Amino acid sequence: MIVGVRKPLAEIQKMVERYDRLLVAGCDTCVAECVSGGRKEVAELAAALTMARRLAGKEVEIREVSVDRQCIHEFLLDVVDAAEPVQAVLSIACGAGVQALAAHLPEIPIFPGLNTLFIGETVERGLWLENCRGCGDCLLGLTGGICPISRCAKSLLNGPCGGARDGMCEINLAREIIPPLPCAWQQIYTRLADLGELDRLLTIAPPKDWSQGDAGGPRRVRREDQMP
Ligand code: SF4
Ligand code: SF4
Repeated sequence: MIVGVRKPLAEIQKMVERYDRLLVAGCDTCVAECVSGGRKEVAELAAALTMARRLAGKEVEIREVSVDRQCIHEFLLDVVDAAEPVQAVLSIACGAGVQALAAHLPEIPIFPGLNTLFIGETVERGLWLENCRGCGDCLLGLTGGICPISRCAKSLLNGPCGGARDGMCEINLAREIIPPLPCAWQQIYTRLADLGELDRLLTIAPPKDWSQGDAGGPRRVRREDQMP
């Protein structure tokens, strides 16, 4: 899932201060799971913006809409319809959803209400962790299903670095991240030991092929077998 957090209300207010008719558009999949951009958060943000305007002695008309996936054409058309009478759209989908919407609304300004952060998972209520950077050349088969690119603070291919303390990553300890995050390479070692596959660590991982990653500009996937 894509994990994002809502921008501060003051920043959002500033972005949309010149508009009196707004649409707040949510996405009920990833960003709903991380409690930042779903239907409930649309209602909360609309109420907060309305209240802030009233306190400033002004009025604003805010419509609300939420769809299952703002990044997919068939779903976002409902947002496009809802945007018909407004002056601007505030989308609290991830960055992909905001851009998909912008492409469908060339004459209406679109603003992001979230900061999109990473591909991750819900670990427990209120805690989401990054566990994939979309590197394009997945190594999980070599590392026991634990990603060294995203979960090791140094993205080491041949860890550990030796700096972990009590099983915790030294970088995260230094940054005082709460909760402190475990050393990914210790996790990889423990998992492979449990699986009886520690021999995998005897092979030195060669330099990674980063050409499939994001360093070379925008990527795309084109599948002839799926084309009309
Ligand atoms: S190795 Fe690459 S594709 Fe696989 S989980 Fe890690 S970042 Fe994602
Ligand atoms: S302590 Fe572990 S997770 Fe942290 S940088 Fe070193 S090897 Fe990577």
